[in-house]
Amino acid sequence: MKKLLAALLAVCFCGLAGCAKKAEYKVELYAMDTVMTLSAYGGQDAKNALADAAAEIMRLDNLFSASRADGEISRLNAAEGAAVEVSQDTAQVIAAAKAYTQLTDGAFDITIYPLVNAWGFVSKNYTVPDEKTVASLLRTTGANNIDLSGQTVVLKKGAQIGLGAIAKGYASDRVAELLRGSGLKSALVVLGGNVYAIGAHTDGSPWRIGIADPLDSVHSAAMLTVVDAAVVTSGGYHRYFVQDGVTYQHILDPRTGRPADNGLISVTIVSPSGTQADALSTALYVMGEKKALAYHKANPNFDYILITDDYRILVSAGLEDAFTLINTEYELCVID
Ligand code: ADP
Ligand code: MG
Repeated sequence: MKKLLAALLAVCFCGLAGCAKKAEYKVELYAMDTVMTLSAYGGQDAKNALADAAAEIMRLDNLFSASRADGEISRLNAAEGAAVEVSQDTAQVIAAAKAYTQLTDGAFDITIYPLVNAWGFVSKNYTVPDEKTVASLLRTTGANNIDLSGQTVVLKKGAQIGLGAIAKGYASDRVAELLRGSGLKSALVVLGGNVYAIGAHTDGSPWRIGIADPLDSVHSAAMLTVVDAAVVTSGGYHRYFVQDGVTYQHILDPRTGRPADNGLISVTIVSPSGTQADALSTALYVMGEKKALAYHKANPNFDYILITDDYRILVSAGLEDAFTLINTEYELCVID
């Protein structure tokens, strides 16, 4: 708890007594391996709600962490085939992950964790595993290695899971629920590349979210206006290593056990569900352009922005009015 308090930084940007009701409060914390910023407009209630939200994120981080020995995922990964009772949150996020594995034909798969580990993306001691190691670790991947019944989980011997591609999305949904439940009408939850916008600004104008440019670490590639939605971006450009002139990024293709390399360099998903947006940003990145567009045709309950390695930005028609291209080196294509 002491650590949490130290990590909290609540700032009221408005010192005037007259604006106590509409002050902006901000909380910054480091959790789930990333910097997070929660901001909300309101009075003391907003400040309290943000502190509760930060505590909720820390709680989920403890549950979901695969590296913390006392976390539920660590316990599961060490169980060697034995049944483990987990919390409702962990059961829910595993159920969602299994559902997305099925929906995405295996492109999203939390059982890829032993490979993520073998490439050094957990320890950050990066290394290219040999083909034999990759082939052997792939034998225990796939959603059929996870048996979930109520809150009891059995991972087949040898299988391990990692929630890195879905935990922040799930946490953003819980935080949005908590903040809305506290009566907040205007808040922005930024969990690294996972953003959740609650309502709009207090003057009614939408939130403006910059879409990172994989080719320019300073300026955004595009700007998106949003109200009441999650905006989640996955890309290889912010977690990678280079060995012998080859770049290896952290999103793996579960079919090969190697970094996905299917022509996309960034995928942003917009959806009222942060969990869906997080899972699909990873999955569509793995699928590549053709399969990603086909997936959206069959499941049109979200919007997307795809950036290709030949400098095109593909935007689903639902975002046309909300989207502004900033880096005009990209060719903009709106897809119906
Ligand atoms: P970020 O970690 O930046 O939020 P993602 O949501 O795309 O990005 O999650 C990527 C992380 O998820 C990786 O660092 C790895 O731990 C794990 N992962 C990699 N490939 C997959 C995959 N195909 N399915 C599920 N999880 C994956
Ligand atoms: Mg993701």
